Amino acid sequence: MSLFASLRPQEYVTSIYHIHLDRLWQAGVRGIVTDLDNTLVAWNSPVAPPKLAAWLDHVRERGFRVCIVSNNDRLRVSSFAEPLGIESLHKARKPRRAAFVRALQKLRTNAGETCMVGDQLFTDILGGNRMGFYTILVRPVHVREFSGTRAIRLLERIVLRDVPLQTAEEYFHYAIAETANRRRGEAHE
Ligand SMILES: [Mg+2]
Repeated sequence: MSLFASLRPQEYVTSIYHIHLDRLWQAGVRGIVTDLDNTLVAWNSPVAPPKLAAWLDHVRERGFRVCIVSNNDRLRVSSFAEPLGIESLHKARKPRRAAFVRALQKLRTNAGETCMVGDQLFTDILGGNRMGFYTILVRPVHVREFSGTRAIRLLERIVLRDVPLQTAEEYFHYAIAETANRRRGEAHE
């Protein structure tokens, strides 16, 4: 696979909330590996907001297993993932293979049953594609300016030129709202 091809995601969506879970399930996906910073929350958000917690509940109720794979450090990753009851791997050194292989063991899936979700082409998408995962790029939750950003953005535009950005609101918003309502109802019982 050429570098160019291995940087291209199969899907490009506005946010995790735009991922078409039914389609993934029908395609045989059972495990979701997700990046943390700028994919689930902004890079400096220490905990999951209620909407994200509800979405993660919905994803797991739908039958998927989820593992956060992050290049960030242990404190950041475990203090985020543990309250959610989600498996996680820190200091993953994406796009290297080792952490992805460990994630498959945690998810009990093979590569063909696994989806990678992330906001960066050179870590999340490159690593996921090389593993043979289905890859979904999300727009970063919060863009932090750093040197090299413009060059990376330019490269992204080239790589993603003919990958359509899916902006359609999916029904998950309703499913998430239902899940959240049910949780509130249970909390009051
Ligand atoms: Mg990220």
